[in-house]
Amino acid sequence: MRIAYLDRTVHETDGEPKPNGDVSAISKSIDLQGSVETGDKTTIASKDFGGLYSIKPLALIKPAGSDDISRAIKAASRIPRMTVAARGNGHSINGQAMTNGGLVIDMRSTEENHFRLLNVNGSFFIDVSGGALWENVLTRCVSRFGLAPRSWTDYLSLTVGGTLSNAGVSGQAFRYGPQISNVTELEIVTGKGDITVCSETRNPELFFGSLGGLGQFGIITRARVKLQPAPDMVRWIRVVYTEFDEFTRDAEFLVSRDDGESFDYVEGFVFCNNDDPVNGWPAVPLDPVHGFNPGIIPQTGASVLYCLEVAFHYQKGDHPSTVDKAVAGLLKRLRFVEGLKSQVDLSYVEFLLRVKRAEEQAKANGIWDAPHPWLNLFISKSNIVDFDQTVFKKMVKDGIGGPMLIYPLMGSKQRNLLPCGIASVRIERAVGRGIGGTKPGNRRMVHQRGFGFQAISPSLPVERGVETAFWGSMDEICREEG
Ligand SMILES: Cc1cc2nc3c(=O)[nH]c(=O)nc-3n(C[C@H](O)[C@H](O)[C@H](O)COP(=O)(O)OP(=O)(O)OC[C@H]3O[C@@H](n4cnc5c(N)ncnc54)[C@H](O)[C@@H]3O)c2cc1C
Repeated sequence: MRIAYLDRTVHETDGEPKPNGDVSAISKSIDLQGSVETGDKTTIASKDFGGLYSIKPLALIKPAGSDDISRAIKAASRIPRMTVAARGNGHSINGQAMTNGGLVIDMRSTEENHFRLLNVNGSFFIDVSGGALWENVLTRCVSRFGLAPRSWTDYLSLTVGGTLSNAGVSGQAFRYGPQISNVTELEIVTGKGDITVCSETRNPELFFGSLGGLGQFGIITRARVKLQPAPDMVRWIRVVYTEFDEFTRDAEFLVSRDDGESFDYVEGFVFCNNDDPVNGWPAVPLDPVHGFNPGIIPQTGASVLYCLEVAFHYQKGDHPSTVDKAVAGLLKRLRFVEGLKSQVDLSYVEFLLRVKRAEEQAKANGIWDAPHPWLNLFISKSNIVDFDQTVFKKMVKDGIGGPMLIYPLMGSKQRNLLPCGIASVRIERAVGRGIGGTKPGNRRMVHQRGFGFQAISPSLPVERGVETAFWGSMDEICREEG
């Protein structure tokens, strides 16, 4: 939960005045270009999207840049037990960006500090601030340069530093790996307050530790992100399966094909085989005019059905028949239920901002601010059928009141995904959000089925539950590592 936990590293020879935990003394000693907020103005930092905890910081620091962050960390290190937490956009679930009585550093105030295009031997990169929102990185890169990062999250009102401290996974990860695999350099303010640049070859331990490191290695103030030409348009398609093995076979087929021979985005989700407006058939169609025809569902359809979600990139100048032919060529290899297909064409930016529209609706319905006890899991290929039988078909067969995403990832593309050697497993499936897996009963049930369970970081306070975990046989992962 706490970023850059600061052990007391007081040097008696330090000539600077020592703060005593009193906010005004701290402010004075830090001498920021930015500002220090206290009292009611820290409320935003005492909660997060999960809505499960309320934890009050001592102060909320709005830094002007890396120097301010460095000063704040150095000042905090002189106060016994003082902790510092970086806050991106506060979309964590489990209080990861909070600190009790400590200093929260609001990275959003640094958004404008970096935005520079680099051309390195014909390859393009963008230097962006750790506090920049991905949605702004997207729109600025596309409108100014016709370029875009390669790997995304589904929802983009998240900061660069916030997702790089986790992994950053969406339907492009099967091809490019998670966002942390698409970064070549970071500027970090370390737990000692040093401002350091790191990469695969320069301070590699700090670089790899910070990517996916939940902020435990320092605060990311700048990231160098790989870019590619942005397509103009996307054909976004959903197809439905009744049989889990057919769904997984097709999804694996798509993610294991070479570049240029598959869709550009592959995800999927599980939904209830009923007319529930949130959990059932109505949640599937992309094109509301045509809706969902349940009369087509074969008798074999069980309590839940599966939706494979794919997207195909193209340019405005491409002839429609060329796009139709390429898409049809891929779809004809899949075994979804004939007639249960839905599609829309939209701009690339609209496609990537698709969850923003869901956010607007949820805000209008007053449910965006409800608690979100979400859970993300990585499950090994060999466990997924059993997981479907136990979890999807039994535990959550009536839905969870929100999306249950599931999609395959190629282990070989998950460099540095998580500190546990997952890259040796060839195909993983990511299951997204909300199965309530941290409830003791659910944990027990999954344990009884023989799944192992491990928190992603030894430094996570697991007694308060984990947001993200591996579920899957660690033995098997170790065996595959050989
Ligand atoms: C609606 C929604 C949809 C989501 N969809 C996806 C998805 O599709 N794929 C996916 O991978 N994730 C997804 N997430 C999860 C999201 O990526 C993480 O929760 C992410 O950490 C949130 O980013 P944030 O900027 O809000 O970070 P915060 O919640 O503010 O912080 C997250 C963690 O990172 C640390 N941190 C923040 N900034 C920095 C920094 N600059 N340097 C170092 N550490 C820092 C914090 O201390 C904390 O530990 C989703 C979350 C929500 C709410």
